Amino acid sequence: MKSVIGLGTNIGDRLLNLKEALNALALLPGTRVLRTSSVYETEPYGFSEQPNFLNMVAEIETTLSPHALLGGCLGIEAGMGRIREFKNGPRIIDLDLLLFEDYSEASSELTVPHPEIYNRSFVLVPLFELYDTGEAFGFQFQSAYQNHPKQDIKKYAAE
Ligand code: ADP
Ligand code: MG
Repeated sequence: MKSVIGLGTNIGDRLLNLKEALNALALLPGTRVLRTSSVYETEPYGFSEQPNFLNMVAEIETTLSPHALLGGCLGIEAGMGRIREFKNGPRIIDLDLLLFEDYSEASSELTVPHPEIYNRSFVLVPLFELYDTGEAFGFQFQSAYQNHPKQDIKKYAAE
């Protein structure tokens, strides 16, 4: 099955954190990374007194179930030293399961499609880069993409 993972980081060597997380995703059982978006720099969402984020999305192919994939993502976050201090606070790495082919669920453990896709330019913009029709596995986000303000997100150019 194909799935789309959203990655975010705003602590330490942010580009390296993204790279490490992508490598770790590719090491999950039965999983490979098919395509990645550009890296974007974005203003923090929610709690603003913190460094800017780098965000991107990755399309993966996996034989894992949605819950096993989520478990893998949370394991990667923990392995990279993520500590959950408060909601929307700074993080070394955040891995969100955005889409999982035609699977949907709405529980507190796993809500997929991710409920915030429509509200976050740092998801909509890289997602549109990979799916430029504004549709992925039947999930439509074209009008959300077109209507969402994009002044707070820029392509990140590594020095
Ligand atoms: P956020 O990503 O909203 O800043 P966290 O990463 O701290 O917050 O939240 C992680 C929790 O959210 C996990 O324990 C997980 O079970 C739950 N969760 C529910 N749906 C998803 C999803 N689609 N992707 C990632 N985590 C999810
Ligand atoms: Mg998360």
